[in-house]
Amino acid sequence: MFTRIGTAALRSCFRQSFSRKFASTENLLVDLYRKEGALDTVTVSLALNDLRDGGIRKTDKRLLPLLERLVHAQENENGQMSAEEFEKLLNCTNLELAYKAFQKQLIIPDFQGFRAEVTDIFEGVRENREGNIATYIPDLAKVDPDLWAAAICSVDGQRLALGDSAKRFSVQSAGKCLNYAIALDSVSSDVVHKYIGLEQSGKEFNAITLNEEGRPHNPMINSGSLVLCSLLERGRSVSDKLDFVRSQYERLCGGESVGTNSSTYSSEKETGHRNYAIGHLLQDSGAFPADGPPLGEILDFYFHLCSIEITADTGAVIAATLANGGICPTTGEKVLSALAVRNTLSLMFSCGLYDYSGQWAFAVGLPAKSGVSGCILVVVPNKMGLCLMSPRLEEHGNSVRGIDFAKRLADKYNLHQFDLSGKDYKREIEEEAN
Ligand code: GLN
Repeated sequence: MFTRIGTAALRSCFRQSFSRKFASTENLLVDLYRKEGALDTVTVSLALNDLRDGGIRKTDKRLLPLLERLVHAQENENGQMSAEEFEKLLNCTNLELAYKAFQKQLIIPDFQGFRAEVTDIFEGVRENREGNIATYIPDLAKVDPDLWAAAICSVDGQRLALGDSAKRFSVQSAGKCLNYAIALDSVSSDVVHKYIGLEQSGKEFNAITLNEEGRPHNPMINSGSLVLCSLLERGRSVSDKLDFVRSQYERLCGGESVGTNSSTYSSEKETGHRNYAIGHLLQDSGAFPADGPPLGEILDFYFHLCSIEITADTGAVIAATLANGGICPTTGEKVLSALAVRNTLSLMFSCGLYDYSGQWAFAVGLPAKSGVSGCILVVVPNKMGLCLMSPRLEEHGNSVRGIDFAKRLADKYNLHQFDLSGKDYKREIEEEAN
């Protein structure tokens, strides 16, 4: 189902064409869409259909001038364009991407087949109504429990959005992995891990407890995230810090605007007694930097970060940026260093789903991070990112449908990081049972 990331072969094959000294790649693509019986004309709808079927959106920024011109011809010029104009358009576009998209050589080559299979999984999981929504934050108690969204973005920017994928929700703890990655690059790993551990806590995400050294167990739970909030952008006001983090989120999701939900923020601030308690324990243990911000500011920043809103559709691009070593697939912008991403994925793998992390790593085998709004960011390294959102949670605070979906998807495509490619594990398990 996936082309090995070995587009390297393709790259070297076409390196010369990509240098634009040769017109051969453009010619080859023009030939694909020449109209039968009118060879100097191309049929625009065929080209647009191929892009759509391959998971490339009409709004894809990387191919925008080409796409806008094709859509215009489709809507106003009988779906025809001169072969000469098409060739010229290709000549000034991202030719490597266009070539791979038209020739079905993106990381998920049969995207239509993939879309159909994933939609089946999605609809199957919809039947799962187990679990309960989080009510301890009053604002979250108001959410429709039946919301269900799954969105995928491949490392080549192929997009799939199912269900309520345009609905905004607060990122909650799913953002902790992003705040951590941002801190690794802006503060440094050494400083971050002087104050925060690297081990699973084995306890609930908001446990009022620290490790034996009096530090948070890891940055993926509330205590660790609070300490992170004392390290990020030190010396700046809370609103400046928030602007900085939000601008990083915007880069991670390919330039979409990222806001916060003020009612979620107020709700958290008014009722977040556990977080105040954790904050006081941290302060009492000397777990914050000595010259750090006052506790009130740290908590305020933390509540703001929890109330940052994304959609499943944009969350998938964020996860895909992590899958792509920190380079956003839809813009090509390098947002995070590869090392920060590797470190983040390691901790997402071992600690991303609180005290369910071991079971998740066992069954799904992928780096992920959940939040109590019902969101799970899942990273399939070098292939794609997913954002799943369904508010009903299991006992540890993770989305029931999100876990169900991820398990089925990982099984279907052997996505577990320790799977041998091509091996039929299901059959082996059945044979063992008999
Ligand atoms: N805002 C939530 C809290 O602090 C975040 C926790 C979560 O998503 N698990 O309790």
